[in-house]
Amino acid sequence: MRNLLLPFLLPAFAALVLLALMGAPAAVITAALVTLGGLVLVIIGNRDSVQRQLQALARKTRGRVEGLPAAPVSEEDRLDEVASLEGAIDSLHARLEARNAQLTQEARTLTAVLDGMIEGIWITDAEGTVVRHNDALREMLQPGNGGIAGQRPLALIRNEELNEAVRRACREGASSRLELTQEGLFPRTLAVRVTPLGKDLPGSAAVFHDITELRRLEKVRKDFVANVSHELRTPITAIRGYAETLQGGALTDPAVAPKMVEIIHRQSERLSELVEDLLELSRLESREVKLKIASVSLALAASRAAETVKPKAAGKDIHLELQVPPDLAAQGDERAVEQVLLNLLDNAVKYTPAGGRVELSGTREDGRCVVRVKDTGVGIEPRHLSRIFERFYRVDKGRSRDMGGTGLGLSIVKHLVGAMEGEVRVESQPNVGSTFVIFLPVASPEAASR
Ligand code: ADP
Repeated sequence: MRNLLLPFLLPAFAALVLLALMGAPAAVITAALVTLGGLVLVIIGNRDSVQRQLQALARKTRGRVEGLPAAPVSEEDRLDEVASLEGAIDSLHARLEARNAQLTQEARTLTAVLDGMIEGIWITDAEGTVVRHNDALREMLQPGNGGIAGQRPLALIRNEELNEAVRRACREGASSRLELTQEGLFPRTLAVRVTPLGKDLPGSAAVFHDITELRRLEKVRKDFVANVSHELRTPITAIRGYAETLQGGALTDPAVAPKMVEIIHRQSERLSELVEDLLELSRLESREVKLKIASVSLALAASRAAETVKPKAAGKDIHLELQVPPDLAAQGDERAVEQVLLNLLDNAVKYTPAGGRVELSGTREDGRCVVRVKDTGVGIEPRHLSRIFERFYRVDKGRSRDMGGTGLGLSIVKHLVGAMEGEVRVESQPNVGSTFVIFLPVASPEAASR
């Protein structure tokens, strides 16, 4: 401001000196001096005001930047230039705020999208250090107290291939896909895709897809196909073998021919049972079977099932006993209930040595119909109990096949009971016996009167 005064005062003094030299009257010189003094005072006064206003504006701007409430700049004697500067700063600030709000909104949307994904994601900086990740990844990796952000890939997943893929994405801009298995309490198989972030963005992104269930289902399918092929091959091989022997001359040998024909017949029956069971299971699994849910008399279903197994039980001198109250009715499909009881009774007779006992009893417990099929058979060791409802799972393959089992009976039971909103359980003790328990909903009219 001092610099501003000089260019103004110097010409004014020069003019005064000229006036004095030209002999201007003292009154004129005095008047000019007074005017000049007044002007100097106005300029000095304005200088302070400009300073004050600029300081206030600086305070207000600083306050806004720091997020404090803005102190208004005093309106009194406000210079136009300062006001216009303030206006420019205000509009700049408003635009910055709007842009900030937009960025915050975008960041929130991105976080919501990332956290809503099933796939785990991490983003690394150019050095390969994780700088961002989503909830799914935390769920997959279950990191300890160290968390995920700020860690290097190897510290999170001990897999050199993944580490190398991240390094190549960061340094060479190369994408890669890999599959890794995580051991531990909950083993997982993860399919990972690692990509560079892009030309202007240093770093990489990795997407983790949990394919544990997919791989499990693939294995189940492969095992199933292998099991079916094996099960079909056994009777087919026997049939072909005996047929060829008969063709080769045994047909005319009365000592062996009838036995061979008998074996061919038995094996063809076994084959047809297997195909029937497979078709039934496949219909159940594809939910093709429409169950007709109605009131089913358990006494009737049990006695019909028992009729079918009676000859077999009698052949082994097994005492078969039914104890089902005549008024006990379950909510289910008549054919399905009968099939379930038949499979359980058939197994009980099959796995009980000659002279044993098989009892079927029905009760109502805790608002549910409960049917128990108890035998004094070979029993099942505890380690097999959780698996016997799986397709083709047998405790003793040889024994089951010898007895004409397909390995599908209990699997069908489980599906049928499940489709009727029931449950099946087993209790067993090796060499003592087994009890299979079926729980079914009570038939509707009864359920209503409960
Ligand atoms: P299978 O046709 O072999 O009998 P299931 O699915 O009916 O097939 O039963 C699976 C396995 O469970 C059987 O192979 C047998 O080892 C065991 N199992 C089923 N019921 C009994 C039972 N009552 N007593 C002992 N073991 C049984």
